[in-house]
Amino acid sequence: MASLPNSVDAALRQRAARVVPGGMWGHLNAAKLPDGYPQFFARADGCRLWDVDGNAYVDLMCSWGPIVLGHHHPKVEEAVRRQAAAGSCMNGPGAVMVELAERLVATIAHADWAMFQKNGGDATTTCVTIARAGTGRRKVLVARGSYHGSAPWCSPSVVGVTAEDRAHILHFDYNDIASLEAAVDQAGADLAAIIVTAFRHDLARDQALPTAAFAARVRQLCNAADAALILDDVRAGFRIHSAGSWEPLGVRPDLSSWSKAIANGHPLAAVTGNDRFREAAAAVFVTGSFWCEASSMAASLATLEAMAEEGAIDRMTAMGQRLRDGLAQLSSASGVAIRQTGPVQMPMVLFDDDADFRKGELFCATALRHGAYLHPRHNMFLSAAHREADIDRVLAAAEKGFAAVRGAG
Ligand SMILES: *Cc1c(COP(=O)(O)O)cnc(C)c1O
Repeated sequence: MASLPNSVDAALRQRAARVVPGGMWGHLNAAKLPDGYPQFFARADGCRLWDVDGNAYVDLMCSWGPIVLGHHHPKVEEAVRRQAAAGSCMNGPGAVMVELAERLVATIAHADWAMFQKNGGDATTTCVTIARAGTGRRKVLVARGSYHGSAPWCSPSVVGVTAEDRAHILHFDYNDIASLEAAVDQAGADLAAIIVTAFRHDLARDQALPTAAFAARVRQLCNAADAALILDDVRAGFRIHSAGSWEPLGVRPDLSSWSKAIANGHPLAAVTGNDRFREAAAAVFVTGSFWCEASSMAASLATLEAMAEEGAIDRMTAMGQRLRDGLAQLSSASGVAIRQTGPVQMPMVLFDDDADFRKGELFCATALRHGAYLHPRHNMFLSAAHREADIDRVLAAAEKGFAAVRGAG
């Protein structure tokens, strides 16, 4: 959708349309942004961000997850500067790779080892490859609608994807044990892995936490078949529990994928695994030109340290609760009904009777003009940099949004 006419953003979009296919790709494709949303940003600091036209926002998207301590966290940026000054992209990794792997193995409950990539999709694809190598089987069970990246085996789009790319992918419904058992039966003796997200955080849908029975059944079925349980913690990782998002459920995966929050905005992903899959992980050929790059690993180490020091998860939870309570109050005061689902630190806000998302988009576009960057159909993210005053600014903007929706209805 369009940005404001005569804006710097609109001019950049026009230039981009000539030299970048569609002007932008994937989830940032202009058609997917709500009306009035800027595409280009100039600056970010803490929980604030400024677009290229100089408008300031309290940021509730946190770069779609990576920013967990706030933009430009001083300790993280200092660690990056120090590593970059010494050397970052060298003929092999820096010592920091071993320090970071040791830290992840000490922190993440199921992990006996770790290896590093750049994007979440690298990590999920590597998990699938290791699972197939370690089991000698082909079938991978994926929850219908779960996002695991843009590679052909898991992309939400089928454009440019062949049936053969997905020949060994079977589907089940998240939290639906009967559908899971049916897919396991269908895979039979060829079951390599079941991959699950930490909770159901699909686009444009109410979020759902995994039931204890579902999580336990996934583990049992993998045990019975000697298949890999892959927990895709790319989105929720380090926002729910530092030992892994299923640790509160007492269910440990064999392999986990991590990215987004792991290095507070610096490009890094990781796969962690247990000893059952160590040999397979050593045997597969997975790599990338930038997978050894040391600055992002230094950023990750500093991020994990700062998160522990600052009690980041507790802070995000407290501020997320403040937001949820405030929105619930504004919703009932305005008579505009909303549904708030999922963990408070990763909020999803959807409107009742809003199949076409017009209420949600009007709400968000109005809040945007009043200085809050929200999203009408994707889950949002708190960071440890959000303070009460920031949440209260968001709530003041949301009040305008509710008024606009009520006025339009
Ligand atoms: C974002 C995401 C991915 C893909 O990560 P990229 O860094 O975009 O490749 C995979 N799984 C989940 C759950 C995600 O949220």
